[in-house]
Order: sequence, then C-alpha cells, then structure tokens
Amino acid sequence: MKNLQNALLLKQLYQLKVLGYYYTDVKLYKGKEQSELQLPNNLEVLKKQASNCHLCSLSKGRYHVVFGEGNSMSEIMFIGDAPLEIEDNEGRPFLGRGGEMLTAMIEKVLGIPRQNVYITNLLKCRPLTNQEVHESEFHTCKAYLFKEIDLVKPKVIVTLGEKAYHYLTNDSTALKEIRGSIMKKENYSIVPTYHPNFLLKNPSLKKEVFLDLKKVKSIL
Ligand code: URA
Repeated sequence: MKNLQNALLLKQLYQLKVLGYYYTDVKLYKGKEQSELQLPNNLEVLKKQASNCHLCSLSKGRYHVVFGEGNSMSEIMFIGDAPLEIEDNEGRPFLGRGGEMLTAMIEKVLGIPRQNVYITNLLKCRPLTNQEVHESEFHTCKAYLFKEIDLVKPKVIVTLGEKAYHYLTNDSTALKEIRGSIMKKENYSIVPTYHPNFLLKNPSLKKEVFLDLKKVKSIL
C-alpha cells in the first residue's frame, strides 16, 4: 500500500510541476492517505479503478489493462507475471499457447474448469517488447494484486514462474529449489511452480508441474 501511496503522491507532484509549481506545502497531502488512497473493497470496482490506472510508465504502451478473471470466490488463485501482446489486445490473462498450457494444467491435472479458478498477473499492463520493467513498476502494481488476494481470499496461491514467486514473497530463492513446496502464510498457502510458457520450451518439466499441482489438490 505504501508503494501505491508513494506513486500517487509522485504523480500529483509531477502534475504540479507541469503546471509550474516548484514548491508545495506538504500539509496539503496530509489526511489524504487513508481516505482517498485506499483501494476499494469490491473486485469489480477495483477492476474499474485499475482500468484507469496511470501510475507507472507501462500504462503508456498498453492497449488494455489485463485484470484478473475467473471465480472471485475460488479457493485457488494462479499468479503469472505480465500480459503479452495477445492478452493486451483482448484484455484477458493467459491466452495463446501459454494460456492453453495453463488451462490444461488446471483442467487435466486439478480436474476443474478454468473458469472455476481465479487467474491474475503481477503486472496488469503489458510491457512493450524490449522494455525493461523497472522494479518500482512491479511494486506499484503489487497493491492491486494484494487487494485481489484480500478480496478473493484463496486458500492456495499457485505462483507461475520465478518472478511471481519472488515479488509475492520477497524471497529470492531460485525457483528450481523451491518449486513444489507448500509455504504456509497467515491466510493462504503458496505453491510455486513453473510458468506455462517455460513448460512450452521445456516440456520434460511437465511431470514436476504435475506433482506440484497434486500438492495443491492435497491442500484443498
Ligand atoms: N500471459 C499472461 O497473462 N501472463 C503471463 O505471465 C504470461 C502470459
């Protein structure tokens, strides 16, 4: 939440600078923090707010904001890293071949329809090809992700790939060492596994993902 507040404050300061102000009274911003900078406690309203987000530079290159989708009361949440071109065009997460692989993981291994789980990403906007994503962009967008977690209240979060795991937990352990373990947090467990796009390039790792998802099943 602090990152979102800082990003909003910075945006306001840039706007003032554009208008020609070089000094401002810090008291002007006191009291705004709790009331105006809170994210809404409703997923649809949160989605709407995210669709108008311009807190980081990724908003400049996006066509659609790609918010999470699926069952908002699901016990399972999947978290990927960022939309690609196809998802940016459609405004939905995990389409294309990576999306087909994720759907197969959910439907064939967990045995539940894709629409019965909740799927989201760390970043809601597509980074342009060759655009290096700054850490602060992940941290700003994390506020939306944490609010989604807060509202969906999953029992298990499956992080897809190293970035999702690292940014969700602040733990930089290599994915190959940590995948498949069940990490109990206060309100949910995290099961890190490989990203579907990585599986497309490394199909021999499918059996590991199969085992990781069996662990998800054992928790539910
Ligand atoms: N598409 C997504 O929505 N997320 C990813 O992490 C990769 C592709």
